[in-house]
Amino acid sequence: MALKFNDNLLPTLPIMEDLPVDRIIGITSTIPIEIVFAAGYIPIDLNNIFICDRLPYKMVDDAEAAGLPRNTCAWIKGIYAATRRYRIQRVISVIQGDCSNNQALMEIFQSEGIETIPFAYPHANTDKEFLHNQLVRLADNLGVDYSNAEEMKKRLDTTRAKVHEIDDLTWAKNTVTGEENHIWTVSTSDLMGDYAVFEERAARFLKLAQNRKPIQHDLRIGVIGIPPICEDLYPFLSSLGIHVVFNEIQRQFSMPYPTKTLVEQYSQYTYPYDIFSRIEDIRQAIEQRNIKGLIHYVQSFCHRHIHDRIIRKYIPLPTLTLDCDRPGPLDGAMKTRIEAFVEMLRNNEPAFVEFRRQEHPE
Ligand code: SF4
Repeated sequence: MALKFNDNLLPTLPIMEDLPVDRIIGITSTIPIEIVFAAGYIPIDLNNIFICDRLPYKMVDDAEAAGLPRNTCAWIKGIYAATRRYRIQRVISVIQGDCSNNQALMEIFQSEGIETIPFAYPHANTDKEFLHNQLVRLADNLGVDYSNAEEMKKRLDTTRAKVHEIDDLTWAKNTVTGEENHIWTVSTSDLMGDYAVFEERAARFLKLAQNRKPIQHDLRIGVIGIPPICEDLYPFLSSLGIHVVFNEIQRQFSMPYPTKTLVEQYSQYTYPYDIFSRIEDIRQAIEQRNIKGLIHYVQSFCHRHIHDRIIRKYIPLPTLTLDCDRPGPLDGAMKTRIEAFVEMLRNNEPAFVEFRRQEHPE
């Protein structure tokens, strides 16, 4: 399978037309791709196919033209349009641990003759038995022995370790930009469908990054929440002298904790579970990476926006909540809010109080 990489060795989309369509399994959220690879299929994250398209906003329009409501999350519409465009025949559907919009989308797929394979995360990450049963059931559904998936985990651990090194270079040596970090970590959801090629490119990127000079910056921030849909957030922050040293959910996709089994790995992955394990992870990153402020990215029409209140309650750091609807550049109002936030971070506590007063008038 051909993977394309740009001059900076960042991964981009596989060439979909070159892939055998009967071997592709679409995924809408991070799932145990070890099982998909072990079964000989090619996992393709439909979010990535959508957002890396030349005209992603057009895909949102296409989905609306096909009847998806305007007031639905644009990621859902993009996933729908990507699935139709590339004639994906099978999709793994996360029926617990993602979102109800996704569940409804799976029902649309079923109504249109696309096969959906269910997978559920447990309600709590302590329910290891439930998780184990789900992993075994997915392996059965794909016709592979579960022990092969555990072997595949060991293989993918090596690939993911390269991305963990890229992540470390971002905050410890400052030689990887926040945007590069975002692209590498977000791409681990499906390893671009080919873990061997992905790993080779990651190794080449590491060599390049290890020999770079540190990025000049005067402020370090983290971006938390789901991966942003807007296209120029990272370059804009960079232009303001900001170094993004933490991409919360994208890093979770890379399975950042050392684990021995798939059950351990997918119970420590924070995204499908309650907000409190995410908060613990964010707190640790703030301490370790010397982060001075957070951008909490929230997607319009997403239930996860509600978590904003809890995050602000438990994380004692200046936080800007950025809400975006469709793919495209940041608008003027968003840029102004980001600039004001950065200015506040560069100043002092009274400025932060004033900023919060303007952002959240009582
Ligand atoms: S952004 Fe929210 S609503 Fe949209 S797909 Fe993700 S979890 Fe679901």
